[in-house]
Amino acid sequence: MRTITLSNGETVEVKCLSCALTSGLVEPDGGVIGETAHFHAHQDVAYPIKGLVIVASKRHVISLDELTEEERQDYISFLAKIRGAQRAALGIEHVYYFYNEDTTHHFHTWMVPRYPWMERFGRSVESVRPVLLHARTQMNDGKSREEMLSGIQRLTAELKKQIDS
Ligand SMILES: [Zn+2]
Repeated sequence: MRTITLSNGETVEVKCLSCALTSGLVEPDGGVIGETAHFHAHQDVAYPIKGLVIVASKRHVISLDELTEEERQDYISFLAKIRGAQRAALGIEHVYYFYNEDTTHHFHTWMVPRYPWMERFGRSVESVRPVLLHARTQMNDGKSREEMLSGIQRLTAELKKQIDS
């Protein structure tokens, strides 16, 4: 169990943070970026990187091969629409994707945009952890946070267009 503080200041104990978010028990800071029948997208605002998106399944599964055929189709289609929205709304050229199955919460994919400032941490997979740590510890000032929040709004609006079209 982990303890989560809600926006009204109350705390709740949840078994799985992804379940709490996708069910609506916990409203993510910055709001829901978009959702489909089987998936839910939000930003983890602890990492103020504009356009970073976390896509979680609504069902509590751990591994990719546990998704039903319908969920698999929904997943790839949703990822592609979010990717399109990142490009259209925020001009994001490259994205790093990752998920791991040995996590304390359930199936979710990180979509981490690549920006020029990340070059100093190297390229490819080894740069991801230092980039995220840097964002969390060094970029939690007003400016990065504001940019991230306005990015969420633009992304949310653009994704709605992509889903409705
Ligand atoms: Zn869960």
